[in-house]
Amino acid sequence: MALLPVTDALARVLNSVSTLDTETVSIHDALGRITAKDIRSNLTQPPFAASAMDGYAVLYDDISNPLKVVGESQAGLSYTGTLKSGEAVRIFTGAPMVDGADTVVIQENVNRDDDQLIINECKARGSNIRAAGSDFMVDEVLVEANIKLDARHIALIAAGNVAEFTVYKRPKVAILSTGDELCEVGSKIGPDKIVNSNVPLFMALVKESGGIAINIGTAKDTAEDVKAKIALVKDVDMFVSIGGVSVGDYDIIQDILKESGLKVEFWKVAMMPGKPVVYGDFNGIPYFGMPGNPSSAYVCFANFMLPALYKMQGLLDGGFPTSHARLEHKLKQGSSRVNYMRATYHENELGEKLVSSTLTQSSANLKTLARSNCLLVRELKVPEANIGDLVRIIIIKP
Ligand code: AMP
Ligand code: MG
Repeated sequence: MALLPVTDALARVLNSVSTLDTETVSIHDALGRITAKDIRSNLTQPPFAASAMDGYAVLYDDISNPLKVVGESQAGLSYTGTLKSGEAVRIFTGAPMVDGADTVVIQENVNRDDDQLIINECKARGSNIRAAGSDFMVDEVLVEANIKLDARHIALIAAGNVAEFTVYKRPKVAILSTGDELCEVGSKIGPDKIVNSNVPLFMALVKESGGIAINIGTAKDTAEDVKAKIALVKDVDMFVSIGGVSVGDYDIIQDILKESGLKVEFWKVAMMPGKPVVYGDFNGIPYFGMPGNPSSAYVCFANFMLPALYKMQGLLDGGFPTSHARLEHKLKQGSSRVNYMRATYHENELGEKLVSSTLTQSSANLKTLARSNCLLVRELKVPEANIGDLVRIIIIKP
């Protein structure tokens, strides 16, 4: 079977994945969630005209005259009277503006002696006042639909006094690892065994991507054990298995899953690493069969699974951001598979990105994965590249 181009594989994944239902969340649990509807403000902010500085509320026409301080307006407690010509009211940042006054003079620009006030400087009428609604108005859209909420959005929504709103549900993802060689982290590692690092990797990736990761365990490379574990895939929105998708004698997962309902959409993509990735429909849910080498699995995650998880949560152009950077060394011509090289980029003093892929590219190597901050993309069959040439990068750690 010819290898499927990466772009076609991604299109097929996204085409087959649906956005999940929505649910109501409290603002206190909303960080990282994706809005399902526009969030509108319940109030106008500031709700009243307020002083932007500590100083004195006055009439601008009075500023050349000595004034008498007749009262005070604090944040949370306004001056109840109406300012008359010849008067000033002490006022603090955030305090309601004083009726009758049209300007706030900052305290650094006055001389005060008991209740007598001389203004030394005041540039313009209306200075240092925050108008009512100067931030936003009641019913104004604070955050549009399909936005991933960060701390700044949370503050804005809170200021609009919206305590609950609608977001997309978090995808529940079942994770299965396979391999007779695997022991769990923290256990005694017997001879010929290695630690299962892919389950912690995928648990963390799913969480980082807004999903709920469910570890259904590690199956031995036997049909019985794989079948027993597959039976645990219930009530989830996605299923990911890791290992056993290549062509070795013990790579049995695809055949066993087919017996249990898997319909394969594609197997083998024109990419390196990650060629043997499987994608399909497992009884109504999207299924990824990831290769076992950690960097291969990660590259498949970055290209296919992350955009799928984002689409499920309403983020339609989801995925790691891409950019371009100038090569710091030569590269040989591209092959018949897109090569995703672990690399590091940095910015020079002009703000231009420079990238180097001098890390080892063994797909079994985890240290280089953890220490890289981007994937340098060598497109299909591109000619040899020289120092300074622009290449595409996928930024995995901004
Ligand atoms: P496989 O895709 O099953 O042929 O595995 C390819 C390589 O990845 C082998 O060296 C496996 O030992 C390794 N591998 C598979 N699964 C895991 C895992 N969960 N954690 C760490 N390494 C793994
Ligand atoms: Mg294996």
